[in-house]
Amino acid sequence: MKELEACPACSAIFTARKALVASGVGVNQNAFAARMQVRCPECRHVFTARTLHLFGFLSPNGLRWVVLGLVVACVVLAKVLPG
Ligand SMILES: [Zn+2]
Repeated sequence: MKELEACPACSAIFTARKALVASGVGVNQNAFAARMQVRCPECRHVFTARTLHLFGFLSPNGLRWVVLGLVVACVVLAKVLPG
């Protein structure tokens, strides 16, 4: 899956992931406020990407480990919690 982003300044099409310059995830822990900033390779215009979402900064392999970790955490919690 490629996240193609169109520059609002010069209409250049480029891959958002490669142009990623900043992620709001590390600074703002509110996932819903996560914003991905990309820089246009043509005109250097920096804007918030629309195609990159939460976890968009992770590689597919990295995301797999995150999901796997969450599943393991759920299983452990299910065994630890009384019920
Ligand atoms: Zn541009």
